[in-house]
Amino acid sequence: MKNKQLSKAKIRLVLKRLSELYPDAGPELNFSNPYETLVATMLSAQSTDKQVNKVTPEVFRQFPTIASMAEATPEILYPYVKSCGFASKATNIVLACRQIMDEFDGAVPGDMDKLISLPGVGRKTANVVLANAFHVPTIAVDTHVFRVSNRLGLADATNVSKTEQQLMQVIPRKDWIAAHHWLILHGRRVCKARRPLCEICTLNDLCNYYKEEQKSASTRL
Ligand code: SF4
Repeated sequence: MKNKQLSKAKIRLVLKRLSELYPDAGPELNFSNPYETLVATMLSAQSTDKQVNKVTPEVFRQFPTIASMAEATPEILYPYVKSCGFASKATNIVLACRQIMDEFDGAVPGDMDKLISLPGVGRKTANVVLANAFHVPTIAVDTHVFRVSNRLGLADATNVSKTEQQLMQVIPRKDWIAAHHWLILHGRRVCKARRPLCEICTLNDLCNYYKEEQKSASTRL
């Protein structure tokens, strides 16, 4: 099958425009240390950053440290995080903190393999924690990053891990963390899941998806 990734020159141009569009892009979750980063990121799965930011001040007041969270129970934590979704999130957070106390000397590990050994922590969550808490260059592929990068042609993949690999190949390492934020913001504001706002998108002259849409519109005429 023909690879639909853009040329290197076009990818450079896409990244330049994204950096100009979102010069201040950064995490929208509130946190101030690796423990808070981990908990907020775990809560954000299938929830919104806004909702997570509403509950975390009280969560961190009640459970200010990994040790205090490890001593809690899922039943105690759940009422504080209920509005962010499933009860399993409370269970995973408490169990993850207990594992951190038992196996990692009470400190969130800055290491992919150790992070993904924690309950409820997949590669995407681990990448976000590594980037935001430890400044390790990573590209966390969430639903927005996956959709936007494959529509544009930064990647041409059918799953998140392949998308992550392809993005790491075409984006300079120094831009990995920023590119994650650029793509999320573009996905939220312009390249929306159901109805991408292609007509006002400043990347439309470079975008594979838009080119295909234009082609099929013209054959319908
Ligand atoms: S042109 Fe459309 S599909 Fe392409 S990036 Fe912009 S909004 Fe998304």
